[in-house]
Amino acid sequence: MVIIGSSRKALARSPILSPQSFLIHYPELNIRLDYDFNTPAFTEAQCHALYSTLHVLPEKMRRTVYLISKENLREGNPAYSTSYGKIVMSSRPIPLRNWTMSFLHELGHLIDFRFLPIEQARHWQELSTLSGSEPDHFVSGYAQVGEIREDFAKTFALYLIDTLGFLALAQEQAAIGKTILMEKFKFMVAIFSLKLDAFYTRVFRLQFKSDESESRLIMQRRMVPIPDQGVPALENSLSSINF
Ligand SMILES: [Zn+2]
Repeated sequence: MVIIGSSRKALARSPILSPQSFLIHYPELNIRLDYDFNTPAFTEAQCHALYSTLHVLPEKMRRTVYLISKENLREGNPAYSTSYGKIVMSSRPIPLRNWTMSFLHELGHLIDFRFLPIEQARHWQELSTLSGSEPDHFVSGYAQVGEIREDFAKTFALYLIDTLGFLALAQEQAAIGKTILMEKFKFMVAIFSLKLDAFYTRVFRLQFKSDESESRLIMQRRMVPIPDQGVPALENSLSSINF
């Protein structure tokens, strides 16, 4: 079920605005979208970003999100999440690109908190610990200085934003003998894998399209077989789908 707006006041004031009703057409998302009475509703572009980035995920991952809300957060704090499945986005005007990146990062925290089986969580902990303080073992500086959970969220977000860019980075490191980043890449390949006629994984690409009046995004996903070495075999991929 989708519930839009928890505040009676808000509903009375504005009987379902078009941006708010956006998710109502997609009940399979099963996520409550909410906003504080004192903050503006989600914009249409933000609703579209939420829809695309959530819809592209396997359902079990999507189910880690229970509520997405907006709050008046301090400047410099674009979003946060809680272990019971809530993602809070800042109500400040933030460019859609940064807004979406922050959302995907918080989504990464929920996958970590609520999706990873205990064995995989332990495996991530090992990888992150092995990374030490070597920058080449991380996808970004923030993942490096942050702790294990930040490393996971950043790495998960990069896999969704640009799987192949991530693969290229991991291959570059592996070519000079630094293989931990490749192990992290393979970790993400595994959590996005599924069995069809053979084992496949989901490969993603997030693109932004802007014109003067609005900014939009497209999430692309394709299924790519994963042979024994755990790296997607792109030449045999199925065609991509836009979300
Ligand atoms: Zn974080």
